[in-house]
Amino acid sequence: MNFEELGLHVNIIRALTDAGYTKPTPVQEQAIPAAIEGRDLLVSSQTGSGKTAAFMLPALHKLATAEVVSYSNEKTPNQERQSARSRGDRPRFVAAKPKMLVLTPTRELALQVTTATDKYGAYTRRLKAVSILGGMPYPKQMQLLSRNPEILVATPGRLIDHMESGKIDFSELQMLVLDEADRMLDMGFIEDIEKIVAATPPTRQTMLFSATLDGVVGNMAKRITTEPMVIQIAGSASKHENIQQKVHFVDDLSHKNRMLDHLLRDVSLDQAVVFTATKRDADTIADRLNIAGFAAAALHGDMHQGARNRTLDGLRRGHIRVLVATDVAARGIDVPGITHVFNYDLPKFPEDYVHRIGRTGRAGRKGVAVSLVNHAESMHVKRIERFTKQLIPVDVIEGFEPKKTAAPGRTSARKPQGWKPGDNRKSGYGNSKPGQRSFSKPGSSTAPRKDGGSAYKGSRQAEGGARRSFGDY
Ligand code: AMP
Repeated sequence: MNFEELGLHVNIIRALTDAGYTKPTPVQEQAIPAAIEGRDLLVSSQTGSGKTAAFMLPALHKLATAEVVSYSNEKTPNQERQSARSRGDRPRFVAAKPKMLVLTPTRELALQVTTATDKYGAYTRRLKAVSILGGMPYPKQMQLLSRNPEILVATPGRLIDHMESGKIDFSELQMLVLDEADRMLDMGFIEDIEKIVAATPPTRQTMLFSATLDGVVGNMAKRITTEPMVIQIAGSASKHENIQQKVHFVDDLSHKNRMLDHLLRDVSLDQAVVFTATKRDADTIADRLNIAGFAAAALHGDMHQGARNRTLDGLRRGHIRVLVATDVAARGIDVPGITHVFNYDLPKFPEDYVHRIGRTGRAGRKGVAVSLVNHAESMHVKRIERFTKQLIPVDVIEGFEPKKTAAPGRTSARKPQGWKPGDNRKSGYGNSKPGQRSFSKPGSSTAPRKDGGSAYKGSRQAEGGARRSFGDY
């Protein structure tokens, strides 16, 4: 199957050729023809599966090929402004009337969707996409809205502000996309989403993308879609089969730091993300790594948007080799050079583990995800394994052996498909002894933070929100 067979406009295919896309991903293969037909979609797929193009390509196709139909007798905002000018009046602000709205949980994801849209729409004239985000200066947002963009990409909170003050009118909206719907609900955006949906015409096409389609997401999906086509992509992207996962046990913080420094010197490492439980740890570790000679930077929710953008830009350009980040800040980061992800602290929620490791192995590349785990956290590793339905191999590096010995009952590590034993050597784990398993009995140690563990017990409130935690799995 190629992009032509999916029925996309020739100008879009030209842009895809420029981007180096040769064939559609599984989610694109299923979603694009159905979306062009105008069907509502419920899609369960992970980031990294090519989901942005799965909704944006058909949307651009439809907008580019649509006949110019006047949906009302009212003038378009631009016509209105022009006639105000010709009357010699000072043009007042006329509400933007987008044709497509994409809602995303975070600013970073919204910016990525906008960038992808610009890329895919490089040859489709007229179509403009803008992001409306919290943290962006108000005059800048007004200026973007006054261009009456066809495509609006926004986080729900800021959008509500503009809707309520009459700056955006959804009466001509044709397509609504909820990207990472489960995340938006986790972050407490349900009321905002319902309000936004209620302001759009019932005739709209709705496309909902989410890691899971069960529970609250499923209920909301039922309310906002009409006879949707359900697409479940369970392939290697969701299982992260291209990512080599492993656990290294550590005795204390100093052991953990030494191990991290060693792993960051891996010759196969291009760029890495190190995840911490708290914003303060992200800052402290980034400082420490900088002093140790790594080009490191922190990324977390306490930073101003400008600083966050600069950091992400530095990462994309390769000036930053090690990003030390919290979960929310790093969600959705799509930088192909990220070869390694390190869980300096385990995530509080098992689904965050999946999102974290998905920062590497983008678009089918190989990646390495290493969790540095204190013995007291064994149970959390097990819960992640239960959630992902995959066993994470425990590995030991010569010279960095933990003092505790292996616990009985830990089965031998299963390597992800596609990984040969020799691949370990290439990635710098050549000194490891895979036979030596180290896995303590649950509860055999109750190490506090100073011993290198359990940081996720600390407050992540500002970053997370009311979500299910480990105990619920
Ligand atoms: P997404 O799941 O939308 O975050 O996309 C993950 C990555 O895959 C992005 O870097 C896209 O540019 C890339 N991508 C999406 N579709 C394709 C494709 N058909 N061929 C190659 N790369 C793709």
